[in-house]
Amino acid sequence: MSTPNIVKAADRIKKGKRVVGFSGAGISVESGIPPFRGSNGLWNKYDPGFLEIDYFLNHPRESWIRIKEIFYDFFGQAQPNAAHIALGAMERAGLVQAVITQNIDNLHQQGGSQTVYEFHGNYQRLICLDCHMSYEAAAIDLGKIPPLCDRCSGVLKPDFIFFGEAIPEPARSLSFAEADHADVFIIIGSTGEVMPAASIPPLAKQAGAFIIEINIEPSNYTHRITDVFLQGRATVMMHALARHLNV
Ligand code: NAD
Ligand code: ZN
Repeated sequence: MSTPNIVKAADRIKKGKRVVGFSGAGISVESGIPPFRGSNGLWNKYDPGFLEIDYFLNHPRESWIRIKEIFYDFFGQAQPNAAHIALGAMERAGLVQAVITQNIDNLHQQGGSQTVYEFHGNYQRLICLDCHMSYEAAAIDLGKIPPLCDRCSGVLKPDFIFFGEAIPEPARSLSFAEADHADVFIIIGSTGEVMPAASIPPLAKQAGAFIIEINIEPSNYTHRITDVFLQGRATVMMHALARHLNV
């Protein structure tokens, strides 16, 4: 695909000194992971209450039954798609400097990105609530839930943030710092509704960044801050961009 918008976006990326990706659930839809919101969203099927931190602390077993089903039995099979891979290739070619992601699925790293700020954490690690020991989720037997810490028998929690928890550091500060310094932001598959992550691209725009946005439909960003809107699937648009950038 070669449209004037793809050419314009590729040109800005080429000229940019600090180009930052900003991804939401939409980039992973074509890897088979549904978004939370919208007609095919997970919240039409599940009550998100099991991801409230207070509920988890009081009912770890009930919460873990759902967590295991959604994030481990199901997410666990997902592979990076052409959009994750194109972004990784752009970073290797020196065209992209970092990715801020709201996703917890580890697919940017599996797709070759190295500098990834995980604004909401990562499901592939589990953390002990008592002694803070960190475990690879793959090494833990989820046949027994809730899983317990080998060292102190505390309850293990996925290392992504639940509703009611703070954004992890240093991902939070590093992400906001990118908003100050980037000259190009590429927003991929985000509604712009989840705060505080949603505030990062508008801050980048205010600080002078050029905003490229990829989404199948207009988002909160499109008519407010987007300079070039590439309407379509993340895989198709990122592949087209990468081709124009010769990566
Ligand atoms: P969202 O669920 O609110 O919205 C997804 C966006 O992606 C929508 O704007 C939609 O139009 C767009 N989209 C859908 N399919 C697309 C495609 N093929 N190509 C391009 N765009 C597409 O996503 P959000 O704004 O990231 O917020 C949801 C929150 O839930 C995030 O904070 C994230 O932490 C979490 N979440 C993560 C995952 C994951 O790790 N993969 C999955 C679901 C939700
Ligand atoms: Zn422990």
